[in-house]
Amino acid sequence: MRSYSLTAPAKINLYLEIIGDRPDGFHELVMVLQSVELADIVDIQSSDTQEIYIHCDHPEVPVNETNLAYRAAALMCQTFPEMHANYGGVVIKIHKNIPVAAGLAGGSGNAAAVLVGMNLIWKLGLTQPDLQDLAAKLGSDIPFCISGGTAIATGRGEKLATLANLDDIWVVLAKYDNISVSTPWAYKTYRQQYSESYICDPEGVKSRTSEVHSSPLLKAIADEDSAEIGKLIYNDLEKVVLPEYPQVAELKSAFAAQDTLGTMMSGSGPTVFALCESKDKAIALQQQIRQQITDPHLNFWITKLSSGGIQIKSST
Ligand code: ATP
Repeated sequence: MRSYSLTAPAKINLYLEIIGDRPDGFHELVMVLQSVELADIVDIQSSDTQEIYIHCDHPEVPVNETNLAYRAAALMCQTFPEMHANYGGVVIKIHKNIPVAAGLAGGSGNAAAVLVGMNLIWKLGLTQPDLQDLAAKLGSDIPFCISGGTAIATGRGEKLATLANLDDIWVVLAKYDNISVSTPWAYKTYRQQYSESYICDPEGVKSRTSEVHSSPLLKAIADEDSAEIGKLIYNDLEKVVLPEYPQVAELKSAFAAQDTLGTMMSGSGPTVFALCESKDKAIALQQQIRQQITDPHLNFWITKLSSGGIQIKSST
C-alpha cells in the first residue's frame, strides 16, 4: 500500500466582502482567495485497523475527532464504506508550518490534503470537482484549498472561479503568537454591528456579486498589475477585529507606513500581510517592522504567492 506526503499551502484573502445573511445561517460572501508557498506537510497512509489516527507536532492542534483532517478522513470513510472496509483506516501525520488560528486556513488545507490523499491511496479516481463537492460539506475554505492559486469565491466561499496566476508577488506575513481570533466570533460580531446594511434579496446579492466580478481589483488581477492589486485589497472583517485587537491595528499601521504594494489583515486575522515586488524588499520590510516592534511574540514569515493547491511532495 502506498503512502503519500502532500504539501498543503496557506491562503490569504486579497478581498473579503460580507454581502448579507444566507437562509442556512452562513454569510453571503465575495472573496478573492490566494495561495502562498508557506505550507504544512500532511503524510497519509493506510492503518492496520479501521481507525483514523492523527499525529501533529503543534501543541495547539487537537489530535482527536475535532481535527479538520480527522473530519475529512471520517467523511471519506462514510462516503466510501467499501473502500474503508477493504483498505482500513488511515494514519495522518501533520507537520505544521502554518500558524494556527491565524486566518490562513491551515486546518482547511490539512483537510483538503486528506481528501486528495485518500483519493490516491484508495485509488478512487475522483476528479478535482468531485473532491471539491466533498470538501464543501466540511467547510467553506476547503474547496479552494484543493485547487489553490488565485480564485474568486462566492456563496459561503465554496463557489469558485479561477483567476490569473499572480505568483511573482512576495509576501511578508506577521502574527503575534499570543493572539488568536475565533472566526465564528469575527463573523458574529460583524453581524451584530453591520447587519442593518446587509443586502437580503437574492437579486440584490446577485447584482453586488457581479459588480465585484467586474471591479477594478478583478481587472488588476487579470492584468497581473501588482501595484494596482496592492492598492485595491480589502477586508470587511478588519472593521471588527482591528478595534478589538489594538496590537494588530498597530501592526497594520506599521506596515502601511512602509514602502509596500499594500497591506491587509488576512481572513478573520490576526495575521497581517504585506505584498512586495521582490524577495529583497520583503526581507528589508520585515527587518524594518522588527526594529519598530520588538515584542518577541511577533513572528514573521517571508513567502510568495503560489499558483498551486494540494501537491504530492513524495510517495513511497
Ligand atoms: P480559517 O482561515 O479557515 O478561519 P484559521 O487559519 O483561522 O482558519 P486554523 O489554523 O485552521 O485557523 O485553526 C482554527 C482552529 O481549528 C484551531 O484553534 C484548532 O484548534 C482547530 N483545528 C482543527 N483542526 C486543525 C488542523 N488540522 N490544523 C490547525 N488547527 C486545527
